[in-house]
Amino acid sequence: MEADILERINRGIILRTGAYLTNDHFVLPSGRHAQEYVEKALATTEPGFTEGLGDVIAKHFAGEPIDLVLTTGYGASLLGHCVARAHPSRPRFIYASKQRNGSGASQVSLPREFRPYFAGAPRVLIVEDILTTGETVRGLIDLVKSLGGRVVGIGTLWRRSKKVKFKFPLFTLVDREFPTYAPKDCPMCRKGIPINRETSSEPTSQTSRPRVASAH
Ligand SMILES: [Zn+2]
Repeated sequence: MEADILERINRGIILRTGAYLTNDHFVLPSGRHAQEYVEKALATTEPGFTEGLGDVIAKHFAGEPIDLVLTTGYGASLLGHCVARAHPSRPRFIYASKQRNGSGASQVSLPREFRPYFAGAPRVLIVEDILTTGETVRGLIDLVKSLGGRVVGIGTLWRRSKKVKFKFPLFTLVDREFPTYAPKDCPMCRKGIPINRETSSEPTSQTSRPRVASAH
């Protein structure tokens, strides 16, 4: 099947989960405006869909023997579990914990209990839900290397910027960088479409509910 058709199907599946919001008007954490948004916490709320998405990633890497599937974060871990469950090598599923250091950068570390799984240079598939900057995945790659493991590849639902690249094979169900606009150039502002404050990062006005989108 053509890659763009497949991608459209995958995007439809993610739309169905409620995580992909489109035909709306959002303010992103950067202050830029967009018509589309990915609310990543919603991508893994329906187990049947999460399993289906995990199957697709597992199928892509089915030809590669894998010993461990490694993730960090709640959403990625739900997905990673499904990938591990569906992969023919029957890999173990493990997760790293993520903290912010003093300067605000995210850092990952492996719980001590999982360290023995890195004896014997295991082959590791890294799974992430939504790739925005790639910082988390780079942290996981460094972690695997520091423990003597080998990265087989990276599987993810959505790569939000084509600038995010790794030295290892990356498979993403959706590879879409949606356009963002400076407020003065925003076509939705020009059309007078109200900003969706429920899912925006702008300081909320008095009439809106005080909910702020999480920064991705
Ligand atoms: Zn706008």
